[in-house]
Amino acid sequence: MTTHATRVASVRSWPVDIALREPFGISGGALSVARNLLVEVVLASGTSGYGEAAPFPAFNGETREQTEAALAAVAGTLVGRSASDWRELAVELDASVHAAASARAALEMALVDALARERGVSLAALFGGAGTELVTDITITTGTAAAAREAAGRIAREGYATIKLKVGGAPLGDDVGRVRAVVEAAPGCGLLLDANGGMGTADAALTLLAEIERVGGRVVLFEQPLGGDDLAGMAVVASRARCPVAADESVASADDVARVAAARAASVVNVKLMKSGVAGALDIVAATRAHGLGLMIGGMVESSLAMSVSACLAAGVGGFSFVDLDTPLWMVDEPIVSTMARVGPRLSVASVTAGHGARPRSAVTDRSA
Ligand SMILES: [Mg+2]
Repeated sequence: MTTHATRVASVRSWPVDIALREPFGISGGALSVARNLLVEVVLASGTSGYGEAAPFPAFNGETREQTEAALAAVAGTLVGRSASDWRELAVELDASVHAAASARAALEMALVDALARERGVSLAALFGGAGTELVTDITITTGTAAAAREAAGRIAREGYATIKLKVGGAPLGDDVGRVRAVVEAAPGCGLLLDANGGMGTADAALTLLAEIERVGGRVVLFEQPLGGDDLAGMAVVASRARCPVAADESVASADDVARVAAARAASVVNVKLMKSGVAGALDIVAATRAHGLGLMIGGMVESSLAMSVSACLAAGVGGFSFVDLDTPLWMVDEPIVSTMARVGPRLSVASVTAGHGARPRSAVTDRSA
């Protein structure tokens, strides 16, 4: 493989609207259509790599419009550069469009995918080849107790061991009622709570945990009870809760991991490509391990394309204790063909032989036309 073969010949991106079966609600708001963007990087050899941006306004304020603007601003700067230098290119993208994290993530995904396909290796192998199998949780978003009960029963029948339940942003009694419904419908499942920073106070978070214990719920992790900047409040929850606390909104860089560790604000870090890009995610993994914290892999409302990259990263790097890669299940007709296998909670990238193994359907159609 010559350097010429991995030189970027072109970069294009296009929006995709993916309808969701039901709104994906978190404490900050709900999403009923995933307004994502797909990216294709074509190398001089003719090999393509694909990426996805999934801006989630209710999570961190990123919008499709900002993401499109960022892609338009920097896509051209990659032309003529080598995909082999993707980590160096990631640093440059971070410097030029830092705030547009999902745009950076999409471009980095497409670069590493193209590189891995050119080399004929899977991304899981490129990231270290530690393993190929993962077991994911599944989410019950904000909503009514009746909806939570119905979803929990279905989830238990499908063999999931862990239910991720969105909490916060509602009266405490509502959350307790939803948890009670989930516990009754799926008594064997562990609960992973995610407040997306919406509990308000440490006392409220601890009260919710006590009430859940009272109704027989087994909480395995409490993600981001308080706001991303409220490390002191998070530390109060972490020191008093019986379950581990995870930092999600609090961590978008390796420096953030150091701050969380110093404040004892969490003992687990949720790694998401949409917060940090691919290179940033690997830096976060390294920092998380260096500080003796646990690893979780998650995502925004992403199709099987971005989720395949995350699965390759988590499986290839290894050591992830919590896996939350379920959002393709929300999508009515995702415009993606993916080699990643999904059987109930079990994900496998063993059949992915090159790159992340996913492609946009439209690009497949374009090529065969
Ligand atoms: Mg979260």
